[in-house]
Amino acid sequence: MTREMRELQPADGKTFGFYCCGPTVYGPAHIGNFRTFVLNDVLRRVMEVSGMRTKHVRNITDVDDKTIRDSQAAGMGLTEFTEKWTARFHRDCEDLNCLKPHVEPSAVQHIPDQIALIEALIEKGHAYPAGDGSVYFKIASFRDYGKLARLDQQDLELGKTQNRRANADEYEKDSISDFVLWKGRRPEDGDNYWESPWGEGRPGWHLECSAMSFKYLGETFDLHSGGEDLKFPHHENEIAQSRCACGGEFARTWFHPRFLMVDGEKMSKSLNNLYTLEDLENDPGATAMEVRYVLISAHHRKQLNFTFDGLHAAREALGKLVRAEARLAKAAGQDGQAALSYKELCRLEDHGVFAPALAALNDDLNTAEGLGQLFKGLRTAATEGDPGVNWLGFHAILAALGLLLPDLGDPEAPPEVVALAEKRQEARATKDWAGADAVRDELKKLGWTVKDGQNGYELKPL
Ligand code: AMP
Ligand code: ZN
Repeated sequence: MTREMRELQPADGKTFGFYCCGPTVYGPAHIGNFRTFVLNDVLRRVMEVSGMRTKHVRNITDVDDKTIRDSQAAGMGLTEFTEKWTARFHRDCEDLNCLKPHVEPSAVQHIPDQIALIEALIEKGHAYPAGDGSVYFKIASFRDYGKLARLDQQDLELGKTQNRRANADEYEKDSISDFVLWKGRRPEDGDNYWESPWGEGRPGWHLECSAMSFKYLGETFDLHSGGEDLKFPHHENEIAQSRCACGGEFARTWFHPRFLMVDGEKMSKSLNNLYTLEDLENDPGATAMEVRYVLISAHHRKQLNFTFDGLHAAREALGKLVRAEARLAKAAGQDGQAALSYKELCRLEDHGVFAPALAALNDDLNTAEGLGQLFKGLRTAATEGDPGVNWLGFHAILAALGLLLPDLGDPEAPPEVVALAEKRQEARATKDWAGADAVRDELKKLGWTVKDGQNGYELKPL
């Protein structure tokens, strides 16, 4: 709201409560959506690994213009249709190793809460029923309207005085207007309507998040998030509804990660550059963890340009982390052992040479720097710190980033063999194929073969 960086602390001194706007379940989420969800997951993990308790609420939008339109096109009932896409979303989240939110409420399950909110708004003079069975929020009645998105004062005045009304869920800044809280039933809604004091209809999109954040986090809570496109109108409208109906401050801080772009352009259906997780698993055979690695590789304040080269680099990086883990575990006398559980890692106080990586993540959630410090820690771990502490510290950082290491087979190769394999990787990276083959022969003499697998390479004893 202030464009200042604020230290995140729970207002109640105990649990950091945050609300993340969830998916609209009318198709598979794309990897742009997942940049937002994965960065929210990292935010939660970093807080938890740093010893803070959280309450994470993320909703499911299962009624709006798009879910109704597409369920009808698919010849399915709204519930059947949205349940199908919710299940898909959950599968993708699990594959991407996102922690389940503590509460995952849906709009359809909270119709009475939304009606109660509208009643409160009408009673306090912030909303009015229009002739068509719809109810609108009167933006002129809320002095702070436009503060979050820093709306242009002139447009705002026009919106307040021109008596314009927006009935659609989504609209642009040049059509600032009173927005719909309850949509009177229209023929195109089919069977999708509910009873209300204003007749049959359904809630407007913005309302659900106000009703559900109030119910599960109260009138003032610690943080609210969503992609950068949600600042206006969605979050602006949520602020207006919540502050006017429920009182309180609403969200104390805001987190809006910048967009994922593709080859420098906005990801969209019309540009045919929209990828789902499944698309990338099919071609070029990426893993969900590689996609996660790409999504966290840039600072949330920067747009991230998705490329296939980036995906390839993620594969190499994960391969390096696997081999590094084997070395750290060996030094700690923990070969083949599972590290502590997530809960235990959250209680860890000493992160050894990896403490700077956690510090970087705690400094404005700088995931790019966190990854950089993770690799830097790996270079110092050979000579500094207690091997047992370093090994656990390394796992704590992986937990904070939500990275699961792939199983690359036999990690037992001796250091000179690993060094040769790394040399071969470097040769391949510079397209020095003859050099790479010469190293392969050297490896053979030492009794090892190297296979180029999914995550870089795999060393196998001959
Ligand atoms: P939706 O399902 O359309 O409501 O979007 C779910 C979330 O994804 C919202 O927080 C959006 O702001 C976010 N989002 C949409 N497109 C992108 C993108 N290209 N990059 C990052 N986040 C996005
Ligand atoms: Zn929302």
